[in-house]
Amino acid sequence: MSVLETRNLTKRFGDVTAVDGVSFAVEEGEVFGFLGPNGAGKSTTINVLLGYMSPTSGSASILGHDVETESRALRARTGVLPENVGVYDRLTGREHVASAIRIKDADDDPERLLARVGLDPDAWDRRAGGYSTGMAQRMALATALAGDPDLLVLDEPQSGLDPNGMQEIRDVVLEEAADGTTVFFSSHILPEVEAVSDRVGVMRAGEMAAVDDIDALRERWTDDTVVRATVADPPVRPEALADLDGVSDVAVEGDRVTLSCRTPRAKGRAVAALERTVGVADFEVEEGSLEDTFTALTGGADAGETTATTRADDPEVSA
Ligand code: ADP
Ligand code: MG
Repeated sequence: MSVLETRNLTKRFGDVTAVDGVSFAVEEGEVFGFLGPNGAGKSTTINVLLGYMSPTSGSASILGHDVETESRALRARTGVLPENVGVYDRLTGREHVASAIRIKDADDDPERLLARVGLDPDAWDRRAGGYSTGMAQRMALATALAGDPDLLVLDEPQSGLDPNGMQEIRDVVLEEAADGTTVFFSSHILPEVEAVSDRVGVMRAGEMAAVDDIDALRERWTDDTVVRATVADPPVRPEALADLDGVSDVAVEGDRVTLSCRTPRAKGRAVAALERTVGVADFEVEEGSLEDTFTALTGGADAGETTATTRADDPEVSA
């Protein structure tokens, strides 16, 4: 049984089809990256999954519970970090977490949860109304962890965090995954998704453009790595290099050989062949980037309100 499953899930707001016939499944224990530019329909999907809004058509279930009819039951076993973190201005961080623990009927130690998410102990007993966005985000993650949920649903968990804070979120996700928790990690920041996910689903304009293992996606969508070598003697038969599996576009100009490699192994084979046949004095490698390909996959600026990898105008939570 999948932990999370959608079947032809569709959500329209008037003329806008935010989620358009999306079907996918997330298996127990995996970190599923839910990637896509702003406006792709990620948060809407999550809101439907958690029973916060009804689908226009199609269905979904979490932990075997239908999201429309059994949302209360599924939320009891799910930890959620929503897109817009709601903060009770007058309650302290500790009180927020204690309240989440109570609601989950759990017996966690609030301090342990607050420490895990890296919220400064000096802030634990201060009112959350004075927290920065990043602090509120950390506190919200601590509340999501209350009750040791079977599924964590994180919507742009790194909003408002500096690189150090982003790293801490990453660590928490990986710790939870190591502990067997299934994680649904939504983000428009490719490297963040790449760093934690086993599989990735890419949303584009309301549709699921691709679902695949992160390694397969990387291989399929990454540009070729380009090797530029300075060789002792120009290869006698440069075409022979192009016969190597995964190697193409071999060009020789004086003592410079340039070639494209589809995979790291192809790169290894090409460099080894050059060493063996002509000797390599020097070489540089230009790794293919996934970033460009992700932009291509998601349609870049055309797919959403902003490009896939910029986030300057995120409407952040004011704590
Ligand atoms: P993402 O989380 O991937 O950035 P959203 O799910 O927030 O995307 O938005 C998907 C699309 O649905 C956007 O075009 C957005 O403007 C629209 N949308 C989202 N929520 C609403 C709403 N409550 N009413 C009307 N349109 C909405
Ligand atoms: Mg969103």
